[in-house]
Amino acid sequence: MLTAGALALPTGIVVNGWVVVDGERVLATGTGPPPERPSWSLPGLVVPGFVDVHVHGGGGASFDGGRPESVATVVRTHLAHGTTTMVASLVTDSLDGLAASCASLAALADDGLVAGIHLEGPWLSPARAGAHEPSLIVDPTASAVSRLVEASGGHLRMVTIAPERPGALAAIDRLVAAGVVVAVGHTDATYDETRAALQAGATAGTHLFNAMPPLHHRQPGPAAALLESAAYLELVVDGVHVHPAVLALAWRTGRTALVTDAMAAAGAADGEYTLGSLSVVVRDGEARLASTGAIAASTATLASSLRFVTSMAGVPLPDALAAVTSTPAAMLGLEAVGSLAPGAWADLVELSDDLEVNRVMRRGAWVPLS
Ligand SMILES: [Zn+2]
Ligand SMILES: [Zn+2]
Repeated sequence: MLTAGALALPTGIVVNGWVVVDGERVLATGTGPPPERPSWSLPGLVVPGFVDVHVHGGGGASFDGGRPESVATVVRTHLAHGTTTMVASLVTDSLDGLAASCASLAALADDGLVAGIHLEGPWLSPARAGAHEPSLIVDPTASAVSRLVEASGGHLRMVTIAPERPGALAAIDRLVAAGVVVAVGHTDATYDETRAALQAGATAGTHLFNAMPPLHHRQPGPAAALLESAAYLELVVDGVHVHPAVLALAWRTGRTALVTDAMAAAGAADGEYTLGSLSVVVRDGEARLASTGAIAASTATLASSLRFVTSMAGVPLPDALAAVTSTPAAMLGLEAVGSLAPGAWADLVELSDDLEVNRVMRRGAWVPLS
């Protein structure tokens, strides 16, 4: 039994809330006097653990390659910042390299360390490659799609695809049939090509506005097609990727999920890093490709993103919380996470008044924060 100064329930934020944890799960929640003596009395705001559906690394390590020690480092780093559910995002690599990474990550997903795999490449537009190695970008052939779905052993959760690539619509069909969420991104597609992808079953947009043509009044492009659709929209909000005014525009859809798109330097020092096979220089927390200066992922955490949208973009706290918990969980159909409902995993975060992370519980156990 824990009591909280305030508690974010699926119905809204209540004062003087309580949560009963039974083993790894939430047994009950409520407000007012607790039914029994609490084991912990937390003065702050207790919220569901954060859900990051697009993240590459942190703590100096990354998911690429799927090495167990590296994956554990990434997970531990973001966990200390309140992220209790993470999908492992892979940047473009050779098909052999991706298949090996997927197989290794699938074993770690079986153990519950990560909630699944997100392939951000290799089926992207070379014109919008961003921090993906352009020479490794290929068409989504039926055999390549089948190979990576199979290598992931049922843990492939999301694929980012550029719908203008030959074979993309058939690939979307195949991926959706395999239970994979398809996100439009790293694309040079037109408005019509994006609409065709949405009709074929794509239900999300990868870091909306970044790595796609800008919204233009005569060439509305992917951004307009995604905004007007029912798709979930990822936003990277680190003060670098998207201007707060544009963020506020996307926010009106009510379907925005904050993602970190973080690379190895999240929760680590400035310096030189790699993202896939590319060199990245991080200065003042801003990650750029050494070769072209393009934005190369972020060094954000979901906790820092939450603080940014509430303080810099004027987003009300309940809406901002949804964008780091229930909305990303719904986007990928992740069960038992993203809300403090009876039966959910006992994943929760205590936040201070200025939204700093005080305590983190994952699956009923308190997590060391350093
Ligand atoms: Zn990207
Ligand atoms: Zn990414």
